[in-house]
Amino acid sequence: MSILKSITIGTAKSEPGKLTYGFIDVMELPTGTSDRIPIMIAQGKEEGPTFFLTANIHGNELTGVAVVHDVVNEELTKELKGTVVAIPTLNPTALRLYQRYPEYQDEDPNRQFPEGRFAKPDEDDEDKKFLKPYEQVAKILYSIIKKYADYHLDIHNHSLRSVPYSIIDRVFYENEDEIEEAKKLAEQQLGMIEAFGAGAMITADFPPKKYINLKYHRSFSGAILNTLRIPAFTVELGANSVLYPEIVAGSVKATRNVLRWAKMLNSPKEEISEYTVPIPEYRLRRIEHPRAKHSGIIRLLVGPGEKVKKGQVIASITDIHGRPLGEGVIKTEHDGYMIALRDQMTIYSQQGVAEMGIKDKDDILAPMPPKK
Ligand SMILES: [Zn+2]
Repeated sequence: MSILKSITIGTAKSEPGKLTYGFIDVMELPTGTSDRIPIMIAQGKEEGPTFFLTANIHGNELTGVAVVHDVVNEELTKELKGTVVAIPTLNPTALRLYQRYPEYQDEDPNRQFPEGRFAKPDEDDEDKKFLKPYEQVAKILYSIIKKYADYHLDIHNHSLRSVPYSIIDRVFYENEDEIEEAKKLAEQQLGMIEAFGAGAMITADFPPKKYINLKYHRSFSGAILNTLRIPAFTVELGANSVLYPEIVAGSVKATRNVLRWAKMLNSPKEEISEYTVPIPEYRLRRIEHPRAKHSGIIRLLVGPGEKVKKGQVIASITDIHGRPLGEGVIKTEHDGYMIALRDQMTIYSQQGVAEMGIKDKDDILAPMPPKK
């Protein structure tokens, strides 16, 4: 008989062949109650890996909540080898308020995970000893993943008009000795992403330097991958703030396909027929592009997922009276794909009208940035 891993997170405790529920207290609130993060543990009867499925760290990104509810059910435990630990919302106050940030910290919660191996020695900074509210929550989540996880998938949504896409994180290595390990980790990450398959277009993240500047190494999956060295990735499942049933249905199948890749389900791979995403002929990376030369009013003239050519008009730009500004249009300087269109109709000079995917010229593996 196999020994199944016993997992206890807050009030949730795993039971072989069952789906169990509970909460973890993460933050005392000033008004006398506490913020609790919901935990679901689906355990099979046979041993296998522990897979963390998390969602809704940005409170207005809803698809992941529904995907967790539809993937993690009693039915799953019958076929499952190992354990799926699911967190339908990583940010309950923001889900209630329908906003991106938690009520107790007006900053991106997905940049608050421990610095880990990227930490710089800065004894001089007395504030570093004290964690901000969501940094405290993130530290708890991080320690749970560190203790139990073999794999991690974090579900997000990008702008209202965006294509579903998976992000290949850059994998950083300390020195030459680590390159082989980093290569293996990157291969596992890509394996998971390719298993999600037709559920999302695939793109690499921003180039390494921008990845660090944007603190993506302190995003949930970024910290898990780059510091804990556990295969993890982020998927962006199209529009935030609304639920599209076809996106939920297709990405539920895609998520189960990742569990199949992890050898946690034996059933055949499911075809995703609910929606389609482009399959680029080369590896993409993200770029905020094109950018406005003037402040004004824009209208996007392309759609999410659309393939575009260098020189193509992406948006029109006018003044508030509707008269063209400059050429009256904003063109792209790259061949590529439209990933996410700007939500706002207003724009300031030099801001991006979209996020695109263009040919990735950087490696996925990158040396650690210098500590000084
Ligand atoms: Zn997000």
